[in-house]
Amino acid sequence: MTLEIIRCLSDNYAYLLHDAATGETTLIDAPEAAPILAVLKARGWRLDHVFITHHHYDHVDGLPGILAEHPATVWGNAADAERLPSLDHAFAPGDTLPGGALVMDAPGHTIGHVAFHYAARSALFSADSLMTHGCGRLFEGTPDQMYDTLMSFAALPDETHIYSGHDYAAANLRFAARFAPDAAALTARQAALAELAVKGLPTTGTTLGSERLLNPYLRGHIPAVAKAAGLPGATPRAVLAEIRRQKDAA
Ligand SMILES: [Zn+2]
Repeated sequence: MTLEIIRCLSDNYAYLLHDAATGETTLIDAPEAAPILAVLKARGWRLDHVFITHHHYDHVDGLPGILAEHPATVWGNAADAERLPSLDHAFAPGDTLPGGALVMDAPGHTIGHVAFHYAARSALFSADSLMTHGCGRLFEGTPDQMYDTLMSFAALPDETHIYSGHDYAAANLRFAARFAPDAAALTARQAALAELAVKGLPTTGTTLGSERLLNPYLRGHIPAVAKAAGLPGATPRAVLAEIRRQKDAA
């Protein structure tokens, strides 16, 4: 499978997955039509499926323009169908979609948010749930829901690549630095992000193993992180809630 990472709008990412064996191409989220259509054209790919992670406009507004040129089928969470664009296929967490994507329930940012896990290519498309060095804002869900979502991802292998919905990596890493990240991993990632910025390359696609060293929302069980959050001895759930509160106030 070939992955194309596409920047859309001011800081969104969309993802195209192309399977050379079947010729099938899947789009994960549709923030904006033009940049996605341009990649499809340049690659000579026909678009077959669109998988939607959640209903926010910056993940779906590109759909009409894309569907006007590619009669792809649109897939989304049945539980959130009334807020999503018109679906050809409604799925539920636990379902496996064309191309081998396992739908994972991922509430927190929104209630109906889902993620797509491709075990065979060690990739998790997590949109605005688990993000590079951070997590999405809790617009609808509770800190407990986000905690459970992130713990379900934490059960995946270290080599799993995390493809999130926005390029917030630099700001998230500056904030993460307050919460006792692994020092060597922090230094290495700061250097890597600076290099990516110079080259204009995407920051998405870190590994879960790297996030375990840097992402404070995955590290609430570590005493130094709880202490840095001002809650020594607190539960990992309480630490996540407090770190998210501090981020919202930052
Ligand atoms: Zn969102």
